[in-house]
Amino acid sequence: NADQAMFEAKNLGRDNFFIFDRETAPAGVNRLKLVEELRRGIDNNELFLEYQPQIDLMSGRIVGAEALVRWTHPERGRLMPGEFIEIAEQTGAIISLGRWVLNEACRQNKAWQDAGLPHITIAVNVSANQFRDKALLSDVFSALDTSGLDARYLELEFTESLVIQNVEQAVALMEDFRRIGIHLAIDDFGTGYSSLVALKNFPLNRLKIDQSFIRDLEYKESDRAIVRAIISLGRELGLNVVAEGVETAKQQAFLLSCRCETTQGYHFGRPMAADKFSKLLGMTRTPLDVAL
Ligand code: C2E
Ligand code: MG
Ligand code: MG
Ligand code: MG
Repeated sequence: NADQAMFEAKNLGRDNFFIFDRETAPAGVNRLKLVEELRRGIDNNELFLEYQPQIDLMSGRIVGAEALVRWTHPERGRLMPGEFIEIAEQTGAIISLGRWVLNEACRQNKAWQDAGLPHITIAVNVSANQFRDKALLSDVFSALDTSGLDARYLELEFTESLVIQNVEQAVALMEDFRRIGIHLAIDDFGTGYSSLVALKNFPLNRLKIDQSFIRDLEYKESDRAIVRAIISLGRELGLNVVAEGVETAKQQAFLLSCRCETTQGYHFGRPMAADKFSKLLGMTRTPLDVAL
């Protein structure tokens, strides 16, 4: 029952907020098992990252990568974030998961740079609960410090759900990040209730148009109108605009015609293992790089 679930949750220890209510509690026992396995999995190196290329549309070059977490569960095999991120958020396990992701993403990007590959920005997803935790700033500092990665090659992605929590606190933290040179992107733009509020308040570098607006571009004039408007809005605000979920050449051609700067999607590349990504990155040297 709910009290029992709460009791067990408290005894799981080290992170300190829990959002178990009477609705989620009945399924809570399996969920608690998953959290316990996740905590162990983090310690046992069962998590890994895949990297999805972000392409500058004009040059066709890779300018960034989004780091996406996966979990090789000892019995269930490979799990996608949709199967464990939410429970991690609700139990506080997201803090140690997020710390692992930050460290690994920074380490990998620095390793690519040290291998002589073109310098790109690595984007890391940060959930609202991580953003609320005081440790985020020091976790980010520590990931940069340990890896030796320059702050300007790290980007943090978050969603507008931060708006409905503490705006002032979120903005203050974002300004701290911007001050040290980290890039900030708003993810899944346009899907919530407060996209424009987020745009108005947050010190952003980049806006990522949610894939739901890209999916039906070929068939829906209204989606084309929305995407055109978001791209010009981003341009007016001096933001880099990324279209997410670009799967076809037609979608890409439309985005180019609207002067969208950057794309990310299966059309260019799916999320992939680090070694595969580095080969792809190695093939996209500029003529200048080759001359050097
Ligand atoms: P997101 O940040 O919006 O990431 C984009 C998702 O869309 C990824 O799913 C990616 O594989 C998928 N995607 C990319 N291109 C295409 C496309 O052309 N078509 C389609 N249909 N999908 C595409 P994934 O990897 O399953 O991640 C899902 C979500 O889980 C992410 O959405 C993000 O919100 C969350 N997530 C992933 N990694 C992390 C992490 O390290 N920390 C946190 N807090 N959240 C994460
Ligand atoms: Mg993202
Ligand atoms: Mg997204
Ligand atoms: Mg998302």
